[in-house]
Amino acid sequence: MEALGYYNGQIGLLKDMTVPMNDRAVYFGDGVYEAVLVKNRVIFSLEEHLNRFERSYKALRLNFPLTREELAAELYKVVDAMDTDATLLLYWQASRATAPRKHTFPEGAKANLMITLKPITLKDMKTFRHKLITWEDTRYLHCDIKTLNLIPSVMAAQAAEEKGCTEVVQHRGERVTEGAHSNIVIVKDGRLITAPLDNLILPGITRMHLLQLAKQCGIPYEERIFTLDELRAADEILVTSSSALCLRAEELDGAAVPQTAGAIVETLQEAYRQKFEKETDPALRK
Ligand code: PMP
Repeated sequence: MEALGYYNGQIGLLKDMTVPMNDRAVYFGDGVYEAVLVKNRVIFSLEEHLNRFERSYKALRLNFPLTREELAAELYKVVDAMDTDATLLLYWQASRATAPRKHTFPEGAKANLMITLKPITLKDMKTFRHKLITWEDTRYLHCDIKTLNLIPSVMAAQAAEEKGCTEVVQHRGERVTEGAHSNIVIVKDGRLITAPLDNLILPGITRMHLLQLAKQCGIPYEERIFTLDELRAADEILVTSSSALCLRAEELDGAAVPQTAGAIVETLQEAYRQKFEKETDPALRK
């Protein structure tokens, strides 16, 4: 199964697709994106991702030409072209326009839509364990908008990999923010604690699902600022993202994470697994 690409209506093998040099994504990263799982040809939690996408492109004042329904139809065109019930990662981005390089918005700018779709093997939530490093968060102050400008996250992810680790936990001074491409939730004394939604973190859809599931399972949680000391003293550290759902960590900066809240974590992971299966049931296919 080869990855597919889509650019403004054209579908082909991703490796054969090109974008114009004047696409403002190329030289300004002037755009926004989303990434989500697909299974049984059903896009998981599409409505929530469309909501966040709209919020992001409005924040950048992009002139995105498609209605919500039209965008969903374009996404499903690519999903249908892949013609498989396997688990896939669907990515899409809108860039402001195609126009010669000039910082201000081009006259009559109309956004470009790019979509990619590729097979993905989900990590086993039961057995996979992250190895984490802490990392000073040097990103800008609009991390709640899902923009294409990801250099700090790229550098952070590479630093983790070079240390034999799988994700970073970013912090601004003492305050923990989020991962390079995930949100961070800690478990302490039977409670989940995760950073509050403000301009310093992305409002992760997996984070939101996890908190909803915690509520349903009667597991208390707090959305509040927490510190590096609290991170280091946590019973568990959870890493949430659309492409991997909810994974545990075994190591932080070379020290073992206690992993002493197994029952809570396994309850949440199982609830999440069931939610994912239920909401990607083949009967829900468009
Ligand atoms: N924070 C950042 C910086 C991310 O890139 C991601 C992944 N998109 C997340 C959090 C997790 O968000 P979601 O659960 O919506 O994938």
